[in-house]
Parts: sequence; C-alpha cells; structure tokens
Amino acid sequence: MDLVNIGRPRYVNKLDQVKGLSEQERQQLQPVAEKFAFRTNDYYQSLIDWNDPDDPIRRIVMPDVQEMEEFGELDASDEHSYTRVKGLEHKYGDTALLLVNNVCGAYCRFCFRKRLFTDDNDEVTSDITDAVEYIRQHPEINNVLLSGGDPMIMSTAKLGRIIQQLRDIDHVRIIRIGTKMTAFDPYRILNDPSLLEMLSQYSLPDRKIFVMAHFNHPRELTEPALKGLQLLQKAGAITVNQSPLIRGVNDKPEIIAELFGRLSFNGVVPYYLFICRPTLGNEPYMVPVEKAFEIFEEARRRLAGLAKNARLCMSHRTGKVEVLGKLDGKIVFRYHRAPDPVDCGRVMIFDSDPAAAWLDDYLKPESVSYRVKTQAQTVSA
Ligand code: SF4
Repeated sequence: MDLVNIGRPRYVNKLDQVKGLSEQERQQLQPVAEKFAFRTNDYYQSLIDWNDPDDPIRRIVMPDVQEMEEFGELDASDEHSYTRVKGLEHKYGDTALLLVNNVCGAYCRFCFRKRLFTDDNDEVTSDITDAVEYIRQHPEINNVLLSGGDPMIMSTAKLGRIIQQLRDIDHVRIIRIGTKMTAFDPYRILNDPSLLEMLSQYSLPDRKIFVMAHFNHPRELTEPALKGLQLLQKAGAITVNQSPLIRGVNDKPEIIAELFGRLSFNGVVPYYLFICRPTLGNEPYMVPVEKAFEIFEEARRRLAGLAKNARLCMSHRTGKVEVLGKLDGKIVFRYHRAPDPVDCGRVMIFDSDPAAAWLDDYLKPESVSYRVKTQAQTVSA
C-alpha cells in the first residue's frame, strides 16, 4: 500500500472487517471486542505484519483474550475524584484537563480511559460552558490539557472553537492537545490545511500550543506520520511524545532507544514514559515497575541529549510518581506532581518487589495486588 497517497483512511469497528484475522481468531476475539471497544482503520492496519502473531503494532490495536482476566479498575487513577464540573478534571493546581471527546482514531487495547468508550459513560460533554467558566474562575490554571478520547478526531471547526474560548482567558498560557492521531491517522493532519491554520492562529510566541503525541513503537514513525509532525511544527506547535511501556509492544531497551532517538531527530522531545496503568483488562499489557526501570535505564544509556529527556512515571491517584532508581534491594520513587504542592518532591523508598506493577503493590503489599506473575520470573531470573 502506498502510505503517503492512501488519502482518507477507512475506519472499522467490527472484527470481520479486519482481513488479517482467521475465522477462528475472529470467534475467539469477539467477546473481547464486545467487552472493550474495538476500532481501527486501514492505514494503521497496513502497518501490521500479519505473519507475526506477536507483531507489536497488532498488539496495540487488536484484542487479546487475556483482557478477559479479572484484573484492574475501570478508573485506575481515580480521575473521578478530581472531576470538578462535567468534563473537567483539576488535580494539579496549575493544570486543568478537559475531556472533549470520547472517540479515538483507533482504540489502544491498554487504554487507561477505556471507560469513556462504554455505552453508559457520560463523563464527556460537548458543551464546555461550565468547564470554561471553572477555568476562568481559577487564575492559578495556566495550562489546559485537551484530551478524551482524541481531540484531533474532532472537526477543525469544533476544536478551534474550544481553543478560541481558552485563548480568551488571559491566565491560560499553554494549551496542550493529547493525540494519537499523529500515529493512528496522520492523514487527519496531511489532508486538512485549516487545522494547521487554526494552530498557527492560536500558538503564539508566548502562549504556545503543545501537541502531546503518542507514539508507542518506532514502526509508527512512517513517512506520512513524520510529514504530519513536520506540518504541526511548521504551524508553530511544540511537539512532544508520551507513551506507556507495554508488554509485547515496546518493553525492550532497543525499541525504546530507537523510538526516543528517532522522535528527537524529528523535533519531538520524549516527555513521559508511563508505567501501564492497572486498568480493567490490562493484565496482558503490564510490565512490573522494576523491570520497566531496567528497560528505561538501558535505553537511556544508548541515547544522548534531548532523546534521554523522558521521565519514567506512574500516574497514580495520589500524584505523578517518578521511578528514580534501585539501590541495595530498595526502590526509590519521588512525587513529580502532587495535588498538594507540599508533597511535590517527596521521596519514597520501599523494599524491592520484582513482581510489583503499581505503587499500591509497594504501599499496601498485603491488601492490594496488581503484581504481574509471568514477568516477575523474567526479572528475577
Ligand atoms: S489514544 Fe489515548 S485515549 Fe485513545 S484509546 Fe489510545 S490511550 Fe486511550
């Protein structure tokens, strides 16, 4: 397939529209796709090597029967507790998060907001009047993150109206757009000059728009994806990347090193590498914290400059917790962000637990367990 000239990708949400699956696989995966929403498109499907059952791109979007294992919470970071008005979360003083949409270009199987894609969820609102008013009433908010779902899948007119309302608030300096469209469907950017015009209108010298891209694997950095990133940069947006560390997708130092290296060569600074959240259905995608740290450190050893800028963090309900290091049978964490600024920078030291996959496994080892049994053996071997 000629990726550059594919035009407009065709979106599919049924397994029988995916040519690469056998009939048997379709039948096995159908209950999984019914439990957790499935969506993809023919551009992204074309990146999959169907001869490889463990293909990392396949793992990002195609269901896995192990998602049916009993594991995790639907709202693993307790975002509900930080919701102030419909569609707006305010966890850290200077930052508000707006859920503007509940659709993505495809659905990552390990999504931490998969609750938004269920029928009975009503957290997202298309009417952001109350959310904008909340931000206006809170002068400490200088950063607004647009998220969802994927804001970039909305029409430019709709997205532009949201950004315009935020630009009208003097104390909002930075607007961030969290998107995986740069990976899932770069034609969203390549085919819409009005999107680029809108971004250049609102990304100002002292009030920037940041595009928070979400590339998980270097194979997503195709020619059209890189072209899309260049156009965003030319329009005046700052481009950075954040990705979770996912078992079977990018849990190898050489993959992370290649991803971060190529992103930085293309002007996209690696910002966060996240520990996969223990969201319902995420058991097959979790990597134990200490294993993740080893992968991250080994990748960093192979990198230089801004390519090694990322922090390894957990978006825990109590704050953003950075994994700092291991020493003498201990693991060291630090609150990178916390709802109460007093906790920012607070260091926590725990006994090493090679199977632990989330902060709760260290905080309450007796009562909570997200431990990953299969990977623990690999770590201690
Ligand atoms: S792009 Fe983000 S919100 Fe959308 S499915 Fe993937 S992780 Fe979830």
